[in-house]
Amino acid sequence: MTNPFKHDKRKHRTPLEYARIFAERGGCCHICKRKLGPADKWELDHIIALSKGGSDDDANLAPACAWCHDPKSDTDTSDAAHIKQGYAKHFVPKSKQRSRSWRA
Ligand SMILES: [Zn+2]
Repeated sequence: MTNPFKHDKRKHRTPLEYARIFAERGGCCHICKRKLGPADKWELDHIIALSKGGSDDDANLAPACAWCHDPKSDTDTSDAAHIKQGYAKHFVPKSKQRSRSWRA
């Protein structure tokens, strides 16, 4: 099982690398498959979120338009919280689960 509390660090990417990944993905949003134009706001999205064990490699990156990306990020974050809770439920001893300290 992967450790849900640890994940890859985001590498810094130059505008040129953004452009390369954009071109490699055909310039389409990977969520809605819409062709992105020069006036569109888009971000590089992790296809599998870092918080879910996705890597920060180019293979896990694709453009997403801003309005597709934002809701997905929210879901990813709450999913990650859910995974951590599930992990804690299984692996934290019952005696510790009752104390409030670990929840803080
Ligand atoms: Zn989109």
